[in-house]
Amino acid sequence: MIIRKAEFVTSAVEESGYPDWNLPEIAMAGRSNVGKSSLLNSLCNRKGLARVAAAPGKTRLVNFFNINDELSMVDLAGYGYARVAKTTKASWGPMIENYLRSREQLQLIILLLDIRHDPSEEDKMMELWLKDSGRNYAIALTKADKLTRQEQNMRVAHFTAILSPSSCGIYPVSAEKRTGIDELWQLIADAANLENSMPRSREQVIPKYKTKNNDTKRTNG
Ligand code: GDP
Repeated sequence: MIIRKAEFVTSAVEESGYPDWNLPEIAMAGRSNVGKSSLLNSLCNRKGLARVAAAPGKTRLVNFFNINDELSMVDLAGYGYARVAKTTKASWGPMIENYLRSREQLQLIILLLDIRHDPSEEDKMMELWLKDSGRNYAIALTKADKLTRQEQNMRVAHFTAILSPSSCGIYPVSAEKRTGIDELWQLIADAANLENSMPRSREQVIPKYKTKNNDTKRTNG
């Protein structure tokens, strides 16, 4: 499957503002500046899709993106940014929690953590909340390019030891170098139940483990 459409649809603060569709949704959560916009752009091969925030904490809503009319990526407001007004901070919890609790078609949550830093208190709270929610969730360790491969492996082992086992695993990723992007897409495609598909740009090669991919026949969802 080639990404022929990746577009921002709407931002919402509450349920009444969520898009009225039945696309499977994959949500991304993480503290401000963790690299959420960059990862979303990298996953979708669109530089400006989620604007890489000039100042951290800019994204404060639940943002819905339509990918190929087949699935929706949902960018949850970044948390933990000190300069955000107290009122905004107070509304963050209920807003995100409401989405995570109520959204039926939500198939997977990807929690982003910076590979170089141990989880903050808020990260830990988020992770525990996800565990208790019974939802499928995975951890993406961002900015992996800042470390050597050996250091990355050590950090993955460290996160594995300090976090409760996430239902869908831990993925080191780099939006900059596109490391781990295919693996993350595979996880997303499986969670969204997309048949035999891995979104990728035209120039990317078919990964070794996707031998039976029949992209060109797929014309719609
Ligand atoms: P957000 O606030 O979570 O959406 O984070 P952004 O995507 O805006 O990224 C925050 C900062 O981290 C920016 O300066 C990005 O250039 C940088 N960044 C994001 N992803 C990566 C990555 O994979 N590698 C490196 N080296 N920097 C990254």
